Amino acid sequence: MRAIKRLLVANRGEIACRVIRACKRLGIESVAVFSDADRHSQHVQQADMAVHIGGSAASESYLNAEAIVAAAQKISADAIHPGYGFLSESTALISLCQQQDIIFVGPSVESIAAMGSKIEAKAIAQSLDIPTVPGYNGDAQDLETLLDQGHTIGFPLLIKASAGGGGKGMRIVHAAGEFENALKQARQEALSAFGDDRVLLEKYIVRPRHIEVQLLGDSQGHVLHLLDRECSIQRNYQKVIEEAPVSHLDDSVRQELFDCAVRLGQHLNYQGAGTVEFILDADSREAYFLEMNTRLQVEHPTTEMVTGLDLVEWQIRIARGEPLVLSQGDIRANGHAIEARVNAEDPANDYLPEIGTITLYREPVAEGVRIDSGVAQGSEITPFYDSMVAKIIAHGGSRGLAAQRLLQGLNNFAIGGVKTNQEFLTSIITRPAFHQELTTQYLSQQFPNGWQPWGESMHAAIAAAACALQQESERSNSPLNAPLNGTPWQSKGAWRLTQLCGTPATSRFWLQNAAGLQEIQIQGRQGQYKVSLQEGHDEQAEWVSFPIQLYQPQQPSQQNSGHNSGQWRVELDGTHRNLDIVIRDQHVSLSSPRLRRSYQFVGLEESQLGAAAGSKNAGNEVRAAMPGLVTDVLVQEGDLVTAGDTAAVMEAMKLIHNLPCPVSGVVKEVRVAAGDKVEDGALLISIEPATEE
Ligand code: ADP
Repeated sequence: MRAIKRLLVANRGEIACRVIRACKRLGIESVAVFSDADRHSQHVQQADMAVHIGGSAASESYLNAEAIVAAAQKISADAIHPGYGFLSESTALISLCQQQDIIFVGPSVESIAAMGSKIEAKAIAQSLDIPTVPGYNGDAQDLETLLDQGHTIGFPLLIKASAGGGGKGMRIVHAAGEFENALKQARQEALSAFGDDRVLLEKYIVRPRHIEVQLLGDSQGHVLHLLDRECSIQRNYQKVIEEAPVSHLDDSVRQELFDCAVRLGQHLNYQGAGTVEFILDADSREAYFLEMNTRLQVEHPTTEMVTGLDLVEWQIRIARGEPLVLSQGDIRANGHAIEARVNAEDPANDYLPEIGTITLYREPVAEGVRIDSGVAQGSEITPFYDSMVAKIIAHGGSRGLAAQRLLQGLNNFAIGGVKTNQEFLTSIITRPAFHQELTTQYLSQQFPNGWQPWGESMHAAIAAAACALQQESERSNSPLNAPLNGTPWQSKGAWRLTQLCGTPATSRFWLQNAAGLQEIQIQGRQGQYKVSLQEGHDEQAEWVSFPIQLYQPQQPSQQNSGHNSGQWRVELDGTHRNLDIVIRDQHVSLSSPRLRRSYQFVGLEESQLGAAAGSKNAGNEVRAAMPGLVTDVLVQEGDLVTAGDTAAVMEAMKLIHNLPCPVSGVVKEVRVAAGDKVEDGALLISIEPATEE
């Protein structure tokens, strides 16, 4: 047994915070390391001590084994935990640790080296009678041999970098003619990423499922499995949603995978936490060994939530020489857990990573919901590292409950200042197909034209705005809400047919947009509505109808004459969203981290007036869609403008917003200049609409 009193965490972000948390529980002092860019990061703040190790580029800091070991020596750390990624599977780091008599929290050099090469790992698996994907994993690497082997395997096939990870150096080849070029690309990518350009070939499985088995092994030769996980929902070979245990899996196959994984672990004399990955062909139902990851995985919390075991704690205990006091029979799945990776990125814009300051950060607090985060309010997202800011993991007695809790958690996880993929994640887990057998084709099948945010769906946003106005109108009509009585929009408000006993039947609103007036009808009351939107005009008009529910859980944060703002929850199409909605007279602004829209509605009188006078006086104003800075004003008084022309440009929440002219006509008044700070809803420009000839 070796004592660990002070442990250095050779990582950053959520996993560094996760390991630091485990240290605190075990009464171990934690030491963070940080690069220039991470001086104020959460892991540095949460650790008991922190050592600067170099420049912002990972190669100068988190990938610099010498600097990390020097830091450990400097503060006399007994052990180093590498987290995942960076140096977690680096034999060089372990060798340096051994030289300095520092405990490496992880498996042996031999295990890592054997599994680090996919070629060797596959050969070991084959020697243990573990099924592997049909293919070629020989030593000869010349084009002729590889192409020959390719013909034997058949197309499509996959070229994989032997040293690969994270999908790097992987290429699908559909036909022999593409082979040479794809090989060249895979090799180049592998060489620059791993310094090793050896490849292996595998039959390409068209409908694969990614299934993996968690292992724990101790220094006394005990190897246990901690059940299975499914990580089939992937984008570019990267996991997006992970869960434990695997659904839609025959018990006999599951047991076979457990046996194979434990057999491999025993062969390696594996110590610590590791994961054996398999690919299951959803068509043939055959499962094959893919690779082994000799480290903690991003998705380990799902296993922790269903087994009740703390994997990081066990890694540390095993590293100190403690035996696994568990037996295989002790490991049972309690319910189901699903994890979603929350990234600072813009899924609507090719998943472009976001950088900037997190100006709002509020984690959901709910039963069965766990957040593993590396950020807080004020944290900076820099361009140097990956874009994952947090993981949200939900646990429930059933998969359905876990999914429901994950959805609620995602909807109540407020991150502002940078875009995140939260809305993308919610749309993944709310699809009916999410409850059927999953394959890695999930995202491309569910979003064949790429994913589009809900905010892009004009119908949804318009309906939410109109219903907020409707609900506000119901509220302000109640005698309990005296402050709103007598507001201008009330008198000009929606036109409502009232059934006997005062039950509202249908309210009608008109949305002022560049093309004219669009009619919206709302049935229902108190947040439960059916909305019908008019599409097109006059005789060609068609109606689109759908149910929508609105909740305004808190009282409006501001309520004075004609002005109400607050956070609302909108449920549409099975998906919930929190929106900040500001209603000023009949002008409604919606905003969430991913959606910013403003709508001008008019009531019956105005719509009739508007119809009679060619929309004169109705919606002829350009207003600020949110508080912000006017960066440019493109029109002057007297200018002739066409509806849709940009009248002014605003900057708010780091984003540039073009404010269009709502109608064609002559600019009557310009109230702002570039550089002005404006309030939400402020009148910026008014236009005298052109009269129709
Ligand atoms: P890496 O080490 O780069 O992560 P893996 O071998 O673990 O590479 O594979 C990553 C993912 O690539 C798998 O989860 C699966 O989606 C896909 N994949 C791997 N091998 C195959 C195959 N033979 N056929 C189809 N898809 C595959």
